[in-house]
Amino acid sequence: KLHNTIQELKGNIRVFCRVRPLLVDGEDTEQSQSVVQYPQFGELFGRGIDLVQADGQKYTFSFDKVFGPETTQENIFEEISQLVQSALDGYKVCIFAYGQTGSGKTYTMLGQPDQQAHKGLIPRSLEQIFKSSQALQNQGWRFTMQASMLEIYNETIRDLLIPPKADLQKGDAASTGKQHNIKHDNLGHTQVSELTLVEVTSWKEVSGLLRQAAQSRSVGKTAMNEQSSRSHCVFTLRISGVNESTEQQVHGVLNLVDLAGSERLSRSGATGDRLKETQAINKSLSCLGDVILAIANKEQHVPYRNSKLTYLLQPCLGGDSKTLMFVNIAPDSKSLHESLCSLRFAAKVN
Ligand code: ADP
Ligand code: MG
Repeated sequence: KLHNTIQELKGNIRVFCRVRPLLVDGEDTEQSQSVVQYPQFGELFGRGIDLVQADGQKYTFSFDKVFGPETTQENIFEEISQLVQSALDGYKVCIFAYGQTGSGKTYTMLGQPDQQAHKGLIPRSLEQIFKSSQALQNQGWRFTMQASMLEIYNETIRDLLIPPKADLQKGDAASTGKQHNIKHDNLGHTQVSELTLVEVTSWKEVSGLLRQAAQSRSVGKTAMNEQSSRSHCVFTLRISGVNESTEQQVHGVLNLVDLAGSERLSRSGATGDRLKETQAINKSLSCLGDVILAIANKEQHVPYRNSKLTYLLQPCLGGDSKTLMFVNIAPDSKSLHESLCSLRFAAKVN
């Protein structure tokens, strides 16, 4: 670690709330209007958010930052670029997007990578990291970076950087036939067996991988959107740096996680396999909440092992790692109940 002060050990879990605009052509109903109000709002963001029910009942929350519908992708990145940068200093960083399906998680994380105005955290973060790592060469630093991308669906890991077998078209999570086991070594490095790690030197290479991953996610799946909303998608960049003159070394990790939709059982009306699936998702999201809560409360026992996601990210959650959770909110009245659930979840871990 380059820096490791007590101050940095404290308060390394933050929660940002982002409310997307009402969508004109989207699922928000014609009569939709925003049920969200923003007390104490500055020019760009505030800390408070109120949800207002039809009968006037108001629910008030506050977070480290609250971003309203006017916030651009660039505005968001400005607020997190330092956090991303710390991965180059050797920190382990996790950024999550939590929220119901349609609330803007993927827009926040990935957005439209080829459109300047709409590209999300992943493209912006990687562009910055490659740019900075090149600039640091002047000071003797040499960096190597490896990218991986996986999906956790029904507590099963699927490598998104290998194409699934064409003959298995059920689209089940194990369609590549590979078993992926998670191991942590003494140095706090995570190894997922048989997971593809690709050495990358530019954003362009990573964007190629993302395209491949998107394809891998959709092949053989009849209801791709449904499945992708039910799985966690984890992009990981491992960063190793060595300074040729001082022999200093750094090992940082950046995890960017688009979580499964947080919507509840009742609304999806699931039965049978679907029901099991939905329960698994809700369980893994509540496990994540439990882990973050235990870390925030500095509890002795942190229940990392209760889900694949938390076990996978164990070395990057807690300790001196840095965690940021986006809670994404849809502003329409139809989503009010789910928005309340999301804000309550986020308030618990904040
Ligand atoms: P999720 O991944 O949570 O299911 P998406 O990111 O796919 O949700 O967002 C749902 C829709 O809303 C998409 O069409 C997306 O482009 C749009 N959207 C989400 N957030 C924003 C935003 N901040 N500004 C404009 N459009 C947005
Ligand atoms: Mg999504």
